[in-house]
Amino acid sequence: MPRIPKAVCAACLVELRIRRTGIMVEMQRKTTTDEGHETIEPYYKIMADIAECPKCRIQLAINFAKEPVVEHWQEGYYLGVASMEVILT
Ligand SMILES: [Zn+2]
Repeated sequence: MPRIPKAVCAACLVELRIRRTGIMVEMQRKTTTDEGHETIEPYYKIMADIAECPKCRIQLAINFAKEPVVEHWQEGYYLGVASMEVILT
């Protein structure tokens, strides 16, 4: 079985390298209030890795876990500190 890359920089055409493993990412989502205002609220926390292009140094979060560590409605959601906060589009 050949080795298949997890991520490739489309600009530099080289394989990304893993820079950090097992970081906690908080996903946030946009919702609209009854008054019509758009707000951003906590959604869930999930583990991922950070990969970096060795040429242009762009960094990507990859290797997301299959399931969240904790969701916003669960007890203890605010105990851990996330390394990144991401707004889902
Ligand atoms: Zn690159």
